[in-house]
Amino acid sequence: MDTLKELKTIYELQEIKDDIIETEVLSHVEYKGKKFPLISFSIGSKDPKAPTLGLFGGVHGLERIGTHVVLSYLSSIMTQLKWDEELRESFKNYRLVSIPLINPAGMAYFKRANPRGVDLMRNAPTKANIENAMPLLSGQSYSKKIPWFRGDPNEMEIESRSVVEFVERKLFQSQMSLSVDFHSGFGLKDRLWYPYGYTKSASIRQPEIDKLTNLFNETIPHHVYKIEPQCASYAIQGDLWDYLLDEHISRGQGVYLPWTLEMGSWSWVKKNPLQIFSAEGLFNPIKDHRYQRTMRRHFLLIDFLSKAVRNHKNWIGHESATI
Ligand SMILES: [Zn+2]
Repeated sequence: MDTLKELKTIYELQEIKDDIIETEVLSHVEYKGKKFPLISFSIGSKDPKAPTLGLFGGVHGLERIGTHVVLSYLSSIMTQLKWDEELRESFKNYRLVSIPLINPAGMAYFKRANPRGVDLMRNAPTKANIENAMPLLSGQSYSKKIPWFRGDPNEMEIESRSVVEFVERKLFQSQMSLSVDFHSGFGLKDRLWYPYGYTKSASIRQPEIDKLTNLFNETIPHHVYKIEPQCASYAIQGDLWDYLLDEHISRGQGVYLPWTLEMGSWSWVKKNPLQIFSAEGLFNPIKDHRYQRTMRRHFLLIDFLSKAVRNHKNWIGHESATI
């Protein structure tokens, strides 16, 4: 069977043997007689309280670039660990965790949704009614033949459940944790979204979100991101990160802030209109220099977040984060 190239890279990373790198197969998704694994990585401290950064990608099968950014970052860190003693030292009190490809069957078959037609980013149970819903796009329960199908939020899909269980296990006990889920496709700019998607009301984590935003703006003043709540772009019902934030607030430890990076692919299409004729091209940069630039430019953000989470005591000023 030919293997999806992204899975091949994941298998190669699994082969890297190092005491501080752990990989797990969280679950399998079956489709058309093939089995696709959901694989996770965990690098660094095993102390559940250690500050933790989570990197996620490939929720939407068409948005390969998100998985590529996560994989190239992981691969760079794993390579660096072979020679960089300071980096290795920093992982004694810090953990980097990742599921780089959440919807492998979707990616293998060029689908946004999972094989059962469910949009995994609309699949979580939500406690509140959505505000300012847009027809269909915000999540719909009519048919899996139409995009943005929510499936059964009371019985989440294997992929969504695996993400939820992994985040609960790896991030919920941490004194401070951040996660970024890499997507592409909306708008001209790269947007960094924070919860909520379903309501314009701020979460009780807004003060910490503001502090991290200010720290980022001051530290990297010329960054490219538009930072805003998810619902400022469009409302979503069943967003996994909304759900995980609320779950964490009700029963987690410390502070957890989930972010979503939506890489604005319309600018790629604008610069290369031929991309419009390819389903994948709408969501991924095709020209090589643009691809390389996309890989590089988000490393700065990930490095910043990894430093921010490790040094949270110096900027968060929050009792619960200093336990
Ligand atoms: Zn997406």
